[in-house]
Amino acid sequence: MVSVTYSSTRGCETQKNLSFRDVVMTGLAHDRGLFIPDSFPTVSKEELGSWRSLSYPDLAVEVISKFVEEDQVPKKKLAEIVKRSCGAFRHEDVTPVKEYGGHYVLELFHGPTFAFKDVALQMLGNFFEYFLETGSNGGRLAVLGATSGDTGSAAIYGLRGKKGIDCVILFPNGRVSEIQERQMTTVPDSNIHCVAVDGTFDDCQDIVKASFANKEFRDRVKLGAVNSINWCRVLAQTTYYYWSYFRVTDENPDIETVNYSVPTGNFGDILAGYYSKRMGLPVGKLIVATNENDILHRFFSKGEYHRYDIAETISPSMDICVSSNFERYLYHLAGDDPTVLSSWMKAFESTGKITLTGKKLEEARKDFLSARADTAMTLQTIKEYKDKYDYMLCPHTAVGVSAIHQLGEVSKATVALATAHDAKFPAACQRAVDPLPTPPPQLSKLFSMKTRSSNCPNDASVVQAFMEKRIEERIANEKAAGLKTAQLKKTVLSAAAVALVALVASQLAKKR
Ligand SMILES: *Cc1c(COP(=O)(O)O)cnc(C)c1O
Repeated sequence: MVSVTYSSTRGCETQKNLSFRDVVMTGLAHDRGLFIPDSFPTVSKEELGSWRSLSYPDLAVEVISKFVEEDQVPKKKLAEIVKRSCGAFRHEDVTPVKEYGGHYVLELFHGPTFAFKDVALQMLGNFFEYFLETGSNGGRLAVLGATSGDTGSAAIYGLRGKKGIDCVILFPNGRVSEIQERQMTTVPDSNIHCVAVDGTFDDCQDIVKASFANKEFRDRVKLGAVNSINWCRVLAQTTYYYWSYFRVTDENPDIETVNYSVPTGNFGDILAGYYSKRMGLPVGKLIVATNENDILHRFFSKGEYHRYDIAETISPSMDICVSSNFERYLYHLAGDDPTVLSSWMKAFESTGKITLTGKKLEEARKDFLSARADTAMTLQTIKEYKDKYDYMLCPHTAVGVSAIHQLGEVSKATVALATAHDAKFPAACQRAVDPLPTPPPQLSKLFSMKTRSSNCPNDASVVQAFMEKRIEERIANEKAAGLKTAQLKKTVLSAAAVALVALVASQLAKKR
């Protein structure tokens, strides 16, 4: 019997020993901390051996069930949720492993929006639906998110058509790439509402924050979030570290530990690798690969987690100035002590700096290496892999591959995580490869599809009013549809009754 509960990194008494259901529905803890398992389940050598031959979905069920209590989600239900989530992927391996350039590449972009966030958001959408069906939140959830690109579309594809859920995604008007905008606005489901805000991505994020801070609004609409700090997202991502470890060691039985190079922004992806290692997966080094927004590279190389301004790069999904999941790792570096962690975070909030030296930095460097690839290095890597191996890397993936080369870790024991399909970033890729390969039909057809979105000024109260109106409309429509079904049922029943009477009468007539 699994027994895993979760507590906030900041240690508030009311945010301790919560269930998987609670932490998934809540997202961010009420003390602004992040939820962490109270104890880490382990995987023995024997168990690991028995997982080797499993399919991706079966493996995912085994890994995830270690963190989910049976009374929260019965294992049969969990298997259903996991299989449905994996079923949204175009490849039967879900995340296939390939070999190029003397190392492995783990392709995470075979989901509906061609980027790795699908792995987590398909799963989160299905968990939300199950929790709402079984009584959470009175059966309704209103998701509000801001996006500068990939998160929005992955969230929309994870939540479209889900019962009881409304999803409002804000994006900065005219500042999202055309493909990314069309991936969002071509989704026809009535529970999806895309809103172009007259402002920047930061303005969109501020509207989301203001809405969560507005307790009345939050409670009235039953506000929820899908941002990368949701525990479910980290958990969903652990499976592919196991999966790729097995595929690499199937082909190279003498390899003992596997290294992973991860294009990193909010630290959610690589954190799943760190947790896999903590559970007992034989992981060597985890390579934190950053673009010019290199706060994490500066931390792992010099111990300086110091906030700088954001720079716009050709790998926009890694353009961050603080890394939202990093608090989870810092908590472990703080010796799993919420008091120490809280003091670090408080210092960071007032000075924009955390500096670690000596033993703590050494400890971090036991698990993590880091490297930074600027635009020139990234484009050079894309060009090199296309020229030498006829393989296209997206700009994010190329940052991770460049890191492997910079650190001298090219070997069959190293896996580069490929986080998006190159065709999502044609403008950047064309600077390295011209002409570009033909894009997948699912992406090219976006340009001839009907789009649907709304406009809002940069004003939280207007966005909130918009959101309430959409929710009211949908509830009214659902009621009307429910009434219609009831009426239809009545009509069908009375028609059936008439037919039955007629039948009986005719039988009686025959008898006579
Ligand atoms: C979100 C994203 C990343 C960064 O992942 P984090 O979990 O934020 O570190 C990298 N590449 C792509 C394509 C992404 O969409």
